[in-house]
Amino acid sequence: MTCQPILDSADQTPALPKPGSANGTGPRSALLEAHQGPALDATVRPAVDQDEGQPPVGLDGAHPAVDLDRGQRVVALDGGKSPAVDLGAAERAAADFLTALGIDLDREERRATPARMAGAYAELLAARPFRLTTFPNDEGYDELVLARAIPFRSLCEHHALLFSGVAHVGYLPGEHILGLSKLARLVEHFAARPQTQERLTMQVAKCLDANLRPRGVGVVLEAEHTCMTQRGVRALGATTVTSALLGTLRTDLRSRAEFFALARVPT
Ligand code: ZN
Repeated sequence: MTCQPILDSADQTPALPKPGSANGTGPRSALLEAHQGPALDATVRPAVDQDEGQPPVGLDGAHPAVDLDRGQRVVALDGGKSPAVDLGAAERAAADFLTALGIDLDREERRATPARMAGAYAELLAARPFRLTTFPNDEGYDELVLARAIPFRSLCEHHALLFSGVAHVGYLPGEHILGLSKLARLVEHFAARPQTQERLTMQVAKCLDANLRPRGVGVVLEAEHTCMTQRGVRALGATTVTSALLGTLRTDLRSRAEFFALARVPT
């Protein structure tokens, strides 16, 4: 259920030759607003998203991805497979669970509730496999690429309750760039399973690092946890912020500051 290459390659971002400055003297950074659709900065070569209909290569993610035509590389995460789900068993368990809590399921309007509940949780946990497509960085683009305010929701593994918010995901390109929709898909992929916000943050960062081999990776998640806002301490409006920085974004103070500034995260 994880992106296997990340297990061996944390903080191993290769020191690729820098085609230029990474600190603001080159072309402007690409800032992608998730809420504004695919409005791409003109300085970014828009990588065509050929996710659908393309055969996955390097199926279990533990093997090196194979170069395809024109230098595209595709890695299928989670072995290209979805986890097995037994909806019938989930429905029966949901009925038992609700009944044990004193909820009367014999009322007409609640008869289908266990089935709906099973379907809802199955949907929340459906980590669809997808293909991470990378392309050669032909133009030598060397500034930050950042998708900010990517909406996500996940399930807290401690309470099986929702937490949701926005993710800001960026990288400093090396020899390859990513199909832009993949930054959002990567967050969605790892969010669709029982999670902690800390692990989700690291998984997105490490998977990007392992498969794209950029010079740096930055991930910030801002989320509200219903297990904290709707129960327990009921800290309404409290937001939890987590971040993971790898490579140059971790070691170079100016790159780091630029990332947080573009992500609009106070430092
Ligand atoms: Zn929780």
